[in-house]
Amino acid sequence: MALRLLFLDMNAYFASVEQQDNPDLRGRPVGVVPVDVDSSCCIACSYEARAAGVRTGTRVSEARRRCPGIALVRARPERYIEIHHRIVATVEKHLPVETVHSVDEMSCRLMRNEREPADAVAIARRMKQAIYDGVGGHLRCSVGLAPNVLLAKVACEMHKPDGLTVIDHGDLPGALHHLALRDLPGIARRMEARLRAAGVETVADLCARPKADLRRIWGGIVGERWWHWLRGDETYLAPTRRRCVGHEHVLPPHLRTDHGAWGVALHLACRAAMRMRKLRYWATHLHLFVRPMKENGVFPPLWEGKARLGSVQDTPAIVEKLRTLWAQRPPRRPMIVGVSLTGLIPDRSATRPLFPGERRRVELSRAVDTINERHGPNAVYFGSMHGMAVPLRIPFGGVPEVPRATHADLGSTAAG
Ligand SMILES: [Mg+2]
Repeated sequence: MALRLLFLDMNAYFASVEQQDNPDLRGRPVGVVPVDVDSSCCIACSYEARAAGVRTGTRVSEARRRCPGIALVRARPERYIEIHHRIVATVEKHLPVETVHSVDEMSCRLMRNEREPADAVAIARRMKQAIYDGVGGHLRCSVGLAPNVLLAKVACEMHKPDGLTVIDHGDLPGALHHLALRDLPGIARRMEARLRAAGVETVADLCARPKADLRRIWGGIVGERWWHWLRGDETYLAPTRRRCVGHEHVLPPHLRTDHGAWGVALHLACRAAMRMRKLRYWATHLHLFVRPMKENGVFPPLWEGKARLGSVQDTPAIVEKLRTLWAQRPPRRPMIVGVSLTGLIPDRSATRPLFPGERRRVELSRAVDTINERHGPNAVYFGSMHGMAVPLRIPFGGVPEVPRATHADLGSTAAG
């Protein structure tokens, strides 16, 4: 029985990156906004802004009212991702990162000789200091140490900013009793309502319920896992087999043309193919959908097309089918485009290409992935995608590779 997981969370991450980069913002209330218009809202805010009652989700107009001195700055996703990669690299000098949970959260597994609380705390202190010394002295992070990842995250949330909290087996379940149900990661409004309907009002109630009760409340095995997690056990969720890799994009007004939408579809297909190769799957079907713009005040029906691929992993084969599907769509002004690769087969059971030409195309696609991983996602791209860059977004639960340079300053090579 010992500490197994370290969870690290960067505090007020986007806002503190802005304060790190711009000394004028330090010590001041800062709100990070996607666009600086009154109807927009803060997607992050500094602790100084929080003290004035500004939160993530507060509208810009309301933030200005509550905190007249607030500095509103435009979000710079590329910069946050770049700093994220530097933080990961710094953390890895101390412990291998097991999971990157989001752009500002990651967890590491402690080795056998690192699991005593005094040793684990010493590692965590060194790790935090290395981030402040090496990445930025105005960044802050909190660390939680616990026997499993759920409790490590709970510990991490307990003291912010700059906290370091241990929850060990001996502290359970008492260390959790002061929390609200919604403080537990994975319990949101609907789950809370279900728990209350079952007579669970507090975390103490939750900890006291037998395993069978939790199984019934959650409606399955997940409830049993919660019973174990709350006791410091580690249980693994069996990896569910992935059935589909896909992306969709709401077109900005200037790309709502046949040519613009085609470029985006192509970009989405290339990204999906790259992700599929990274996950070691082969696709058997390609799916394309286009949602048209309103016509005379009503949305025309969504158009969907599907094509059989055989068993493919290479981008050229996927693009060829995409082109065929694209030609079949009705001529309407597009608003949203989505591309997915479906019917995925894991690497070990896929039929490999028989012909040397097909094999070479798979190798070429993998080579393109390697170059793009090293030099940024658009270092090499298909000629028909030129000028079709889709804005970068940071998805929850994953972090895209940092673009180290733009098309122009890399002097990109168009491939395909
Ligand atoms: Mg955070």
